[in-house]
Amino acid sequence: MNSNYEAVIGLEVHAQLLTKSKIFCSCSTEFGSLPNTNVCPICLGHPGVLPVLNLHALEFIIRMGLATGCSVNTQSIFARKNYFYPDLPKGYQISQFEKPVCENGYIEIEENKNIRIKRIHLEEDAGKLIHEHGNVSLVDVNRCGVPLIEIVSEPDIHSSKDAVTYLTKLRQILIYLGICDGNMEEGSLRCDANISVRQKGEVALGTRTEVKNMNSFKNVEAAIKHEINRQIGIIEEGNKVVQETLLWNAELNESISMRGKEQAHDYRYFPEPDLEPMIISDEWKQQIKSTIPELPDEKKKRFCSEYKLPKYDAEILTSSRELANYYEKVVQVTQNYKAASNWIMSDVLKIINERKIAINEFSISAENLGRLINLITGNKINGKIAKKVFELMLLENKTPEDIVQEKKLLQITDTCAIENIVEDIIQKSPEQVEDYLAGKEKIIGYFVGKVMAVTKGKANPQIVNEILIKKLNKKRHI
Ligand code: ADP
Ligand code: MG
Ligand code: ZN
Repeated sequence: MNSNYEAVIGLEVHAQLLTKSKIFCSCSTEFGSLPNTNVCPICLGHPGVLPVLNLHALEFIIRMGLATGCSVNTQSIFARKNYFYPDLPKGYQISQFEKPVCENGYIEIEENKNIRIKRIHLEEDAGKLIHEHGNVSLVDVNRCGVPLIEIVSEPDIHSSKDAVTYLTKLRQILIYLGICDGNMEEGSLRCDANISVRQKGEVALGTRTEVKNMNSFKNVEAAIKHEINRQIGIIEEGNKVVQETLLWNAELNESISMRGKEQAHDYRYFPEPDLEPMIISDEWKQQIKSTIPELPDEKKKRFCSEYKLPKYDAEILTSSRELANYYEKVVQVTQNYKAASNWIMSDVLKIINERKIAINEFSISAENLGRLINLITGNKINGKIAKKVFELMLLENKTPEDIVQEKKLLQITDTCAIENIVEDIIQKSPEQVEDYLAGKEKIIGYFVGKVMAVTKGKANPQIVNEILIKKLNKKRHI
């Protein structure tokens, strides 16, 4: 990016709420049902029907507001946003304009770096057009009336990287709160990016464009980068950026103009006459607040202080509530907090990612992993053998102790026995002994390897090293 410019980005994120039924009727919200089966006169927009608010949806948005430091308005109203589109049978979307449920919050993306949230409002989703059938387009209205919250940030973001961090944090909070599954591919989380650029030091905002249709973090990052560079190019050529809505095409790594920017007045917003104002009492707010779990940032801080973990570890371990719970169960069994973290971050996550499973589906219980670590710290097995035991635990549901006993993997710590083996190897390796004495200290690895081969990897490496050095150095003085 040309360093004379600064990018300014504000994100509008739509999150589908995890309610069982739709926002104004009792139809199911299930994803992937047969087209046009989860419908009724209300979500089909038949004349004369009346919407009834699903209180779970309201509760969920309040949770999100409280979790992001928003003020939750005591009174809030719905508005009709009027426009015509084939996926919108009613001809209007019930949304919020004035008096959204939540206002003025923030998300901390790094220490001392907050992105302000302007508002979070409640609305219904529209249907879906399917263009995969040659010259005809089909409409599936199952999604009509599925509850969404829209989280609108202030234009506080200045790079594609920070946009992705913001989105990652936002998604994590939604999932921690249990109000959205965060699945971008299925469209449960959608992001539109408003982007402008200005000369460094300039205070006024430049003309923005809005990029839609980015269904992965990778796309968000690529689309924003592309748009920043496109706008700088236009300005550098002496032209002006046109305010418009763009569609991101991930395959071509390009954006396409979709339409000129619509303005709020184009929608003829007016207060929804069929729904009463939402009244949110302090009492209800308090009650909802008490159900909010420990959030990712708090958890991360606690993991650092309670388990003395580096920030890096804490960040990974708290990336989901389930993973954090798994870790905390492991450290109920072992006091070796850092070892537990290392095992999870490398060995456990590797398997989980390979198999594309969730931590809850991982076959080694937290307790057994804790026991395995205790076998190492208790000098019952060494680190290499532990990896082997771990592999065996993946195959069958047995305690590490049983596996160690069955496969005779107990560590050899008997110094006499190790001394005899070492002595024998030294006898048989005169060349290597000479090398060692000539200053090639790395050759010690050769001897260790031999001892491990004889003991099938079971010798205590520390004892082996000590004895080897002692015996080899003795040769020096003869
Ligand atoms: P609209 O009603 O057109 O969607 P809003 O004022 O609600 O516009 O803003 C939508 C989003 O665009 C917000 O996230 C806001 O931060 C962002 N935004 C507004 N102006 C700019 C700008 N000039 N450059 C970048 N982002 C902007
Ligand atoms: Mg907008
Ligand atoms: Zn319905």
